[in-house]
Amino acid sequence: MGNSHVTTPWPAVLSLARSGDTASHHRIVGDDDGGKLFTPEEYEVYKRKVLPIRLQNRLYVSWRSPTGMDCKLVGPETLCFCTHRYKQHKTDYEVIPKDRPICMPCRVSHCPCQSYHYVPLNGTQPIRCRCKHFADQHSAAPGYSCNSCSRCSGFHSCFTCGCGQPTYAHETVVETKQERLAQGRPVGQDVPYAAMGGLTGFSSLAEGYMRLDDSGIGTPSAELLESPITSMDHPFLKAFQGPSSSAQTISQIAGGSSATAQVSHERRSEEDDMAYFEKRYQERLKKEKTAKRKEKSLVPTKKP
Ligand SMILES: [Zn+2]
Ligand SMILES: [Zn+2]
Ligand SMILES: [Zn+2]
Ligand SMILES: [Zn+2]
Ligand SMILES: [Zn+2]
Repeated sequence: MGNSHVTTPWPAVLSLARSGDTASHHRIVGDDDGGKLFTPEEYEVYKRKVLPIRLQNRLYVSWRSPTGMDCKLVGPETLCFCTHRYKQHKTDYEVIPKDRPICMPCRVSHCPCQSYHYVPLNGTQPIRCRCKHFADQHSAAPGYSCNSCSRCSGFHSCFTCGCGQPTYAHETVVETKQERLAQGRPVGQDVPYAAMGGLTGFSSLAEGYMRLDDSGIGTPSAELLESPITSMDHPFLKAFQGPSSSAQTISQIAGGSSATAQVSHERRSEEDDMAYFEKRYQERLKKEKTAKRKEKSLVPTKKP
């Protein structure tokens, strides 16, 4: 491996995973329990087996414009061309395949999808192919031929993305952490959650062209990361605490499970998450700015 970019100490990850609240349980297990909840014993076995693999071999999935921008960072709930969600695809690899592109086949039985393939929506509507039929009228098998006409040579959409480029010019990219670091792309903190895809932090949940910073890194300042986590914070935000967070801090947070329990019963959609994170982020930025201003005004002006 050589480079040591693993920032989250292993005990911290385990204590985070041990917190026992249903929200983090759900984020960790994803769809791997086949819908029925694991017994505590099964959950322990699962975590010991899967978490080390996940932290080591995380794969980042994004939808990239020819300009090089990641216009969409795929998250657990992001839909595939096959109409199933990212988390329903094979996202954990014990050994990262040598061949590129890395395939992430759909795990839903009888689905012909051989690898996760992002397709944007037009608002809430599916987009149209040049054959005039909608994306979901096409086969999810390689070639993406149309089920509703015979003149289509495979799904091809001119729908324009927010970046100004047509859909067909974009591609779904699957990368390792090393591959992203080599290109200077954000990787975020190591998290034990399932099917994180391309999500690298809270501001990364926004569309590429809407993100708060040009780089798309969305990395908050150290001060921001070190500011105390309050009971208002989403479990995700807690997990995204900076590398400075000790195992103790995390278990303290996990111990205060009444705070986490408040959010665990309502399963937030991707959009809710985004709005939530943006709101929190903006609030913190504001606080930080006010604090700095106060600090400045307190410094006595030196006279020559
Ligand atoms: Zn599928
Ligand atoms: Zn699929
Ligand atoms: Zn078509
Ligand atoms: Zn067609
Ligand atoms: Zn784009």
